[in-house]
Amino acid sequence: MINSIIVNGLTFDPYISAEQISAAVAKVADRINTDYAGREPLFICVLNGAYIFAADLYRRINLNSEITFVRLKSYEGTGTTGEVKMLFPISEPIEGRDIIVIEDIVDTGITMSGFKKLLKEQGARSIAVASFLFKPDSLQKTDAAPDYVGISIPTKFILGYGLDYDGLGRNLPEIYILSTK
Ligand code: IMP
Ligand code: MG
Repeated sequence: MINSIIVNGLTFDPYISAEQISAAVAKVADRINTDYAGREPLFICVLNGAYIFAADLYRRINLNSEITFVRLKSYEGTGTTGEVKMLFPISEPIEGRDIIVIEDIVDTGITMSGFKKLLKEQGARSIAVASFLFKPDSLQKTDAAPDYVGISIPTKFILGYGLDYDGLGRNLPEIYILSTK
């Protein structure tokens, strides 16, 4: 039995086990391997949160493919809702490529919606989003609903498996949920 933990003064309860995580990752990888058979997609992992999911997912991908990384900054509070900027450019050409974005979680969808717009502007042939977690009840940008979802969860704050609270907790092998007790 895994215990609750305290991070920066907040209590989190165990929510998704390492076994459930790896089953969900395998399910997403199988679907991508089937859907993209014969194609050579470019995977783009959104840092920081998605790097752990990306490492697990990518080792299960059996396609001729490349992986690269991006860091995004979104301007949600400044009036230009949905505006997303890349903190450094993607070194691989996007033009004409089948892109699979690897994300840790889609919440409001503002980040993913903005990033998909950038990828379209750069001439991507197709764009799919593989998000380990999805909060369908939080979604504001309907074009950001992920094409591949590991596990759908309610609108609660969660931690672990790459997801942080104030920079902490990314290293936890299980996923925890903010305690309501
Ligand atoms: P969105 O633009 O609202 O979809 O937010 C996406 C980003 O918010 C994710 O990539 C995470 O970094 C962060 N986020 C959303 N929900 C959670 C959560 O429950 N725990 C930790 N980070 C979260
Ligand atoms: Mg993220």
